[in-house]
Amino acid sequence: AASPSKSYNITLLPGDGIGPEVISVAKNALQLVASIEGFEVAFEEMPMGGAALDAIGVPLPAETLNSAKKSDATLLGAIGGYKWDKNEKHLKPETGLLQLREGLQVFANLRPATVLPQLVDASTLKKEVAEGVDLMVVRELTGGIYFGKPRGFSTNENGQEIGFNTEVYAAYEIDRIARIAFETARKRRGKLCSVDKANVLEASMLWRKIVTALASEYPDVELSHMYVDNAAMQLVRNPKQHMMTQSSMELILETIIMQFDTIVTNNIFGDILSDEASMITGSIGMLPSASLGAAGPGLFEPIHGSAPDIAGQDKANPLATMLSAAMLLKYGLGEEKAAQRIEAAVLDTLNRGFRTGDIHSAGHKLVGCKEMGEEVLKSIDSKT
Ligand code: ATP
Ligand code: MG
Repeated sequence: AASPSKSYNITLLPGDGIGPEVISVAKNALQLVASIEGFEVAFEEMPMGGAALDAIGVPLPAETLNSAKKSDATLLGAIGGYKWDKNEKHLKPETGLLQLREGLQVFANLRPATVLPQLVDASTLKKEVAEGVDLMVVRELTGGIYFGKPRGFSTNENGQEIGFNTEVYAAYEIDRIARIAFETARKRRGKLCSVDKANVLEASMLWRKIVTALASEYPDVELSHMYVDNAAMQLVRNPKQHMMTQSSMELILETIIMQFDTIVTNNIFGDILSDEASMITGSIGMLPSASLGAAGPGLFEPIHGSAPDIAGQDKANPLATMLSAAMLLKYGLGEEKAAQRIEAAVLDTLNRGFRTGDIHSAGHKLVGCKEMGEEVLKSIDSKT
């Protein structure tokens, strides 16, 4: 074979619970598609979360963060578990994840919600509504009301206890998340819906102004705006809505475009909408995510947790991590063909009837994590 032209370093953070099981399977898939596409991947496996607490005493060891910073991308399994739930805050696995996001300066969280035709029955919505849903929520991750100051507790003039928080966005924070969203939309179906509350909140008014101003730089992306209350409603009413033409005569020429392809929104709205969108698919074991910054390496992980109830039993669904690996290839390394190979193989494996317990239904073949992983590898091979 020709000598590979490119080589990437990937940091693997297996973490806790089912994390090591799903990472081991995804690693094999990355290795295989890399060899098919003619590039090299070198993995560095590092401790993180509860595993790091037990081994080293902190949830994010310095060597782990350094590895992630130096690498081209990081793939994380899952962290946490009952064992560490009562730890003090700085000794919780979850704190390590916050530190990792902070250390990598990833401010954009991408969460696709796709209803696969093979799994449409898992959706919380009616089949007609759920069928064909394929959207991506781009959530701002490091600003807004979760971080804004002033915040705290105090007492008002009547001696009543008060709690307060501040929604604050600087122009540059909106600009950089919007750019990632426009670029994401460009890699998808070219539709971007910005969700805000610009009728009430000043931070949202600025949000809308800056997103709108950027649109001229992305003429190939169709931009629309929606208020968050409406977006939450539309997501369960018709999550794949495309064109809505006003029926009244005087407005007949005006087409209201309410596209759910890529949705961009602030931290708190994105927190809520991305969970709402993922519930539409109904398959937590199938959903990947990416966290991206302006330049440096991204962080890719399944949205599910460490699932301590099934850990170590070879029952975990590895497909969310497989699809996270596909996002790593697409958004992290720009290796779109390799990403498509994994995505296509996941669909093919489902088409061939293989199901882990979480997505199993009558008439399908129940398999464990390892076997599911092996079947995906076979699918990758068979399409080569
Ligand atoms: P977090 O750790 O983010 O708070 P959580 O504790 O709320 O998450 P999970 O750990 O994701 O939730 O588990 C929720 C349920 O979904 C559990 O019953 C778990 O077994 C199941 N589950 C989660 N991920 C998977 C998976 N990949 N395959 C099969 N079942 C899963
Ligand atoms: Mg949990």
